[in-house]
Amino acid sequence: MESKTDILSLSLEELEEHLAGMGEKKFRAKQVFQWLHVKKVFDFEKMTDISVQLRRLLEEYFCINRLFAEKKLESSIDNTVKYLYRLHDGNYVETVLMEYSYGHSICVSTQVGCKMGCRFCASAIAGYVRSLTPSEILMQIYETEHDAGLRVSGVVLMGIGEPLDNFDNVVKFLRLVSDKNGNDLSLRHVTLSTCGIVPEIYRLAKLRLGLTLSVSLHSPDNIRRSEIMPVNRAYNIDRLITACKDYISATGRRITFEYAVIEGVNSSREDADRLADLIRGMNCHVNLIPVNKVKERDYHTGKNTAAEFAGYLGKRGINATVRRTLGSDIEAACGQLRRDAAEKKEVRNIEIQVRN
Ligand code: SAH
Repeated sequence: MESKTDILSLSLEELEEHLAGMGEKKFRAKQVFQWLHVKKVFDFEKMTDISVQLRRLLEEYFCINRLFAEKKLESSIDNTVKYLYRLHDGNYVETVLMEYSYGHSICVSTQVGCKMGCRFCASAIAGYVRSLTPSEILMQIYETEHDAGLRVSGVVLMGIGEPLDNFDNVVKFLRLVSDKNGNDLSLRHVTLSTCGIVPEIYRLAKLRLGLTLSVSLHSPDNIRRSEIMPVNRAYNIDRLITACKDYISATGRRITFEYAVIEGVNSSREDADRLADLIRGMNCHVNLIPVNKVKERDYHTGKNTAAEFAGYLGKRGINATVRRTLGSDIEAACGQLRRDAAEKKEVRNIEIQVRN
């Protein structure tokens, strides 16, 4: 059983190689690929224009790892839907479907848990278990499309996990989701968010994928940033900004800086001034996020703090918008559902894995 190949993680070229190895014609691979990635049919038996023999063979060699929606929360305010998906090994990830005027966007997880330990983030609290495979990232989209009966037109990699800590699988996912013979989603409509793993930002820049890079900055001060984001102890703000400048010049793309405004931590006028000095002249945009309350922490944002902060930045010539909060009634902040599931039954499993 376990030796079956995960067919949804294979590129078209890899599928061709597999089928050639099984003595099949190359064009069959494209047919199968389209059943999976265009028609989104996850049962070999239903691939009706493929011979019965080949369907049997596919069944024997490959597995299709579906995700099971363990929980689904629908916001009554703005149609945001949050899914808690159970993976084939019993782990959980979260996916959020959001409705915008231009279409539907989806926020996907890239790891089960996260190693990065950002203080304000619920994903860090439930601990790290493992990285997701390309198909597990992709299936969050396909399963959600099935469930909601729509096609997703934008993807943000901002769910649980650090995408650049799962670099190869994330890149493979990006190639799959945008494959012209398959799902064909333009990477222009994809945003990858990172806490700032500097060497991987350089690696990503070289691939020139055309996606939007979003960098979680959250403070212009090294001491403060190291307190709330341990990754800063490895890659400090100077190194991060240099990598961001390289990314902008290598790709020609504008960067977004994410800044969760936290009262008494990073929301002063001085913080705004220092942030403005830090990023002045860069092709970038600042996205201010009122911090989502996480029950283990007492971080919060005052009612007007984010807007005031945007005002300070504006006076210093820096473009900033306050992000609209979606799904505020369903704990749409990443990591909260999985943490709750972990508290109930998965805790032992997770603790054991974390020690490795
Ligand atoms: N690991 C990646 C992507 C996942 S987090 C990253 O760090 O960017 C997606 C975004 O949500 C990041 O900007 C993160 O800093 C932010 N975030 C996490 N917890 C939050 C909270 N409680 N309130 C507001 N933003 C939060």
